[in-house]
Amino acid sequence: WSLLCPSPSVLFGGDFDAPALESDALLEIRQAHFARPQKNYYRRPPQIERGYREQMYAMDGRSYLDMVNNVAILGHGHEKLAAAVGRQWSLLNTNSRFHYAGIAEFSKRLADLAPDGLDTVFLVNSGSEANDLALRLAWAHSGARNIISLLEAYHGWTVASDAVSTSIADNPQALSTRPEWVHAVTAPNTYRGAHRGPDSAAGYIADVEAALAKIEARGERLGGFIAESVYGNAGGIPLPKGYLKEVYRLVRQRGGVTIADEVQVGYGRLGHYFWGFEEQGVVPDIITIAKGMGNGHPLGAVITSRAIADSLEKEGYFFSSAGGSPVSCTVGMAVLDAMRDEKLQENARAVGDHLRRRLEALGQRFPIVGAVHGMGLYLGLEFVRNRDTLEPATQETAAICNRLLDLGVIMQPTGDHLNVLKIKPPLCLSRQSADFFADMLERVLEEGW
Ligand code: PMP
Repeated sequence: WSLLCPSPSVLFGGDFDAPALESDALLEIRQAHFARPQKNYYRRPPQIERGYREQMYAMDGRSYLDMVNNVAILGHGHEKLAAAVGRQWSLLNTNSRFHYAGIAEFSKRLADLAPDGLDTVFLVNSGSEANDLALRLAWAHSGARNIISLLEAYHGWTVASDAVSTSIADNPQALSTRPEWVHAVTAPNTYRGAHRGPDSAAGYIADVEAALAKIEARGERLGGFIAESVYGNAGGIPLPKGYLKEVYRLVRQRGGVTIADEVQVGYGRLGHYFWGFEEQGVVPDIITIAKGMGNGHPLGAVITSRAIADSLEKEGYFFSSAGGSPVSCTVGMAVLDAMRDEKLQENARAVGDHLRRRLEALGQRFPIVGAVHGMGLYLGLEFVRNRDTLEPATQETAAICNRLLDLGVIMQPTGDHLNVLKIKPPLCLSRQSADFFADMLERVLEEGW
């Protein structure tokens, strides 16, 4: 490992001596003072101190392969990114957005990545903010409040994005506290949903039609529809064939605005596509992005048409103090440069395809592997107790994650039944690292958990 992923101290000659605090003491302090309620599936989580590419190093000196980081798409400790940020930070870190040239350049680069017609960019600081802004745009443009979203989806934690997030695992309160403008329809999960298989679109579309009928029966109109273009919760199951095409048609027919949440699946992670919606052959009215575009720096964006962007003028534009700061734009452009120079989408495709084949081979050997989902470096391994009933292997999944951690792999249970290993590593994941992960997983499945 030290050969493949040299420690930053080797690379930069920096002083990375372990801090004086013991790991246990730090854990105690965090529990006493860190407010964020984090779900913890590990018996003993490592205290991560630094990282290099897909590898992370803990205070106890151990290294871990980071298989869950869908934010640091370039990986950790990226030298060129660090240099660009440092330079920009010392030149100009914040100013009025009207005078900083980089904001125009970065906006144009994002618009160039989007399909024709989606040429107007808002810069914000996170995916939650991007989705809140997308909902405001849909409301302003349509003049209507009702939004259709998918059950078992996650779109963020700010008030509006949380309202359309109806993942029972992430937010058990979601169903009872959902505001009346949110109409959650059945998640089109072709593996364990109400309708199975890639050709099951009609059943799920009927749910959308029922929601539309309910809105109309109230004498109201539709404002929009928000969804990830790949079912993300369980590790990237493609939506049923033709689903989004028909749903977008129904939504637009009623004057609604279509929002594709590409925070997780977009920006090259799928390898075979830059945007998730390409898989369904559709073009949304609004795209929201965040996570990887900043490689961990707070950065998000909404990309839409000029007509939709201008509809906010009625209410006054909503500016974000730090959104689109010179440092944010510099980070965003350095990430795009690195993605191009290091061919990260191509890597996601090649290494992802390889890893998928290795996982499928495990599926042949171990009955607990119910299915391998996803594509590129957005894969899901779903564990079941019974392949016919699909009973989720929830406790087993937590135990497997703990064993993997012992073996130097960071992985956590996801999905509404917490029975899925959602594999979303940095896009620079090497083939050797993919093999290391598959080898360790094979070992756990062989030896037991
Ligand atoms: N949408 C999706 C699909 C996400 O996965 C997330 C984050 N997990 C968000 C939105 C929210 O992004 P952020 O955490 O940057 O607010």
